[in-house]
Amino acid sequence: MTAATEIAFENTFVRDLEGLYLPWQAAPAPEPRLVLLNDALARELGLDPARLRTPAGLGLLTGTAVPGSATTVAQAYAGHQFGNFSPRLGDGRALLVGELVAPDGARRDLHLKGSGRTPFARGGDGRAPLGPMLREYVISEAMHALGVPTTRSLAVVATGEHVMRDRGPEPGAVLARTASSHLRVGTFQFAAATGDVDVLRRLADHAIARHHPAASSPLELYRAVIAAQAALVARWTGIGFVHGVMNTDNMTISGETIDYGPCAFLDAHDPTTWYSSIDHAGRYAFGNQPGIAQWNLARFGEALLPLLADDQEEAVRLATGELQGFADAYLAARDRDHLAKIGVGTPELLGELFALLEEHTPDHTLFFRRLSDAARGDDGPVRALFGDPAAPGEWLRSWRAAGPDADAMDRVNPVHVPRNHLVEEALGAAVVDGDLEPVQWLLQVVADPFTEREGFERYALPAGPDAPPFRTFCGT
Ligand code: AMP
Ligand code: MG
Repeated sequence: MTAATEIAFENTFVRDLEGLYLPWQAAPAPEPRLVLLNDALARELGLDPARLRTPAGLGLLTGTAVPGSATTVAQAYAGHQFGNFSPRLGDGRALLVGELVAPDGARRDLHLKGSGRTPFARGGDGRAPLGPMLREYVISEAMHALGVPTTRSLAVVATGEHVMRDRGPEPGAVLARTASSHLRVGTFQFAAATGDVDVLRRLADHAIARHHPAASSPLELYRAVIAAQAALVARWTGIGFVHGVMNTDNMTISGETIDYGPCAFLDAHDPTTWYSSIDHAGRYAFGNQPGIAQWNLARFGEALLPLLADDQEEAVRLATGELQGFADAYLAARDRDHLAKIGVGTPELLGELFALLEEHTPDHTLFFRRLSDAARGDDGPVRALFGDPAAPGEWLRSWRAAGPDADAMDRVNPVHVPRNHLVEEALGAAVVDGDLEPVQWLLQVVADPFTEREGFERYALPAGPDAPPFRTFCGT
C-alpha cells in the first residue's frame, strides 16, 4: 500500500445484499495508539505494516479515516442466544470496512470491533475494552497457528477513551480482524425473518459463491455448511477448546471459528467444563459443543426452508435428511483427528481412549503431547498426569502394539496452547500496568505451538493446584 487512502477495497457484500446492513460510520478515537499489529497478516493481505503504523494507518484500523473504496456498514443478523431467538441483533459495536483481495487471491473481510454505537446497539455502549480485544487477538492467532479455521486479528488500537464495565473503567480499544466473511447462521435467520424470499436467495447465492462454490443449490449449501461445522467442532474437541457462546449469531457459514468471548482451553480433560460466567446452566460446556452445533444447524435449516422446495413438508424432509448427516460427519472427523493425535491407524483404540480421558481427566494438552514420549519408550511422563499412574497402563500397551509414529504426533499435538492462567496474567499486565511484554511473549509462544523450547517450560504447564477455579467474565 502506498498510502492508507489508496487501498482498493471491494464491497461484494454491500453490492449483493442490500437489506442486510446499514451504512454507518465509526465513532471518533480521540487518541489512537497502536497496541498490537500483526505484521505477517498485514503482508499476507498485501498491506504494508509500516504504513499501518502511521496516523493514516490508525485511521483505517479504527475506522475513523477509511479510503474512498471502503463503504463502512453495520451488518444485520438475528440469532438464538442461549436458546432464545432475538430477531434483531446485528453489529452493535462493529463495522465491516470492506473486502481485501490478497495477492494469493483470497477475499477477506476487514472488520472493526469496538468502533462505536450503531443502530443495532440496543442498550450497549458500542465500545470494547482493551482486555477482551487482546484476548481475542491472542486466542484467534493461537487457533490459526494450531491449524484451526478461524477469523484472524490484524491489530488492536487503544482509542484513548475509557469504557465502563462491571470491573470499573477500562481503556477502550478497537480490534481489527479479518475473516473469509462475516456471514453467520444468524444472517440467514435475519434474512428469513424479513419474509422476503428474494433477500434470502441473494444471501444463499452470495454464500455459495464465496464459501462453497461447488454447491449448486441451497440444499447443497446446507450440506457443505454442515460438513464444515462438523469438521470445525471436531478440531475444537481435539485441542480442548471451549468456545463459550455458541449462539447462532456466533456460527459462521464459512466454517471459521468466530467471536472469542468467554472461550478457553481445557486444562483437565473434563467434558462438563465451561468457563463463561453468563452460561449459568453450562449449555456450552466442552462436551456439549457437537450437540449444540447440530442444534444451531437445525436453526440454519429452518431459515433455508423457503429455498429448499415450494412444498413446506418436502422442504422439511430435505433439510432433516441433510442434518442427519451431521452426527456421522462429526464422529468421522473427530476419529480422524484423534487417530492423528495418537499416531496410529487403529480406530478400535479410540473408544477406550475417550473413556480413559473422561474417567481420569488428565491435562488434555499434556496427555497427547507426553504420549509421544511413551511412543519413544518412556511412558513415565504420561502416567504422571493420572491420579493413579497405573490407570492408563492397559490402554498404553494396546496402543504401543499398534506402532505409533512419535514424530507425526508431535506435529499435531501442541505443547503450547493459551492456557487460562497465562492469558489472564498477560492481560492483567497489559491492562492494569500498561506492560505489553507478557502479551508479546505469550503471542510468540502460541504462534509456534508444536515446538518445545528451552526456557519456555512454564508456558506448557497448567495452573498450579492452588489456582482458583477459572471463570471468564462477560463485560466484553
Ligand atoms: P456477542 O455476545 O459478542 O456475540 O454479541 C451479541 C450482540 O450484542 C451483538 O449484536 C453485538 O453487536 C452486541 N453487543 C455486544 N457488546 C456490545 C456493546 N458494548 N455495545 C453494543 N452492542 C454490543
Ligand atoms: Mg457475536
